[in-house]
Amino acid sequence: FGDVAAVDGVDLELGAGEMVTLLGPSGCGKTTALRIAAGLEQPDAGTVVIDGVDVTNLPPDRRGLGMVFQDYSLFPHLTVLDNLTLSPIWVGKVSKAEAEERAMQQLKRVRIAEQALKYPLQLSGGQQQRVAIARALCLTPQIMLFDEPTSALDPEMIKEVLDVMIELAEQGITMVCVTHEMGFAKAVADR
Ligand code: ATP
Repeated sequence: FGDVAAVDGVDLELGAGEMVTLLGPSGCGKTTALRIAAGLEQPDAGTVVIDGVDVTNLPPDRRGLGMVFQDYSLFPHLTVLDNLTLSPIWVGKVSKAEAEERAMQQLKRVRIAEQALKYPLQLSGGQQQRVAIARALCLTPQIMLFDEPTSALDPEMIKEVLDVMIELAEQGITMVCVTHEMGFAKAVADR
């Protein structure tokens, strides 16, 4: 970024089903590394390869990745259900009925199906983050990227989000998580 080399000379290789946490001091480039993997930033050099395919020049929606942000990044003017079906309907060209059925499955998976018709700001932070995880899962990603998913949460809500992530890790989804939760990293991460 201009004079700042946010990520330089980093090699990261992930095996299928692996759960890896990225740890490090503020500003060392963790978020940028995830955003490059997701296609939200374009690197000046280097490649991103998924399953043997060079995706460096592919847009985010063609990479088979799901991303979860620190601030949830839900659309406040859409219900939980509509947040989950928007991308599958408009980008994935899935029918509304099918998108809604899949969305409800993912909301059940993160144990929040009963909130489907509410708006994000009617939910707690922990609930909003679980909605954001369900939204990412609706795109049936091969890999899930989490950028400090619990750092905006009150302490009592951190556990409910980490528990969902632990379940995903146990189900064998390949995951990269930027986190400052050292106990979680130690307990769940392969590396
Ligand atoms: P934190 O733990 O505080 O979130 P981080 O390790 O995730 O930090 P990044 O957010 O990737 O670090 O930032 C790495 C460096 O790149 C920092 O010096 C930051 O100021 C800079 N940077 C990040 N994004 C941009 C941008 N869009 N424009 C300019 N500089 C940026």
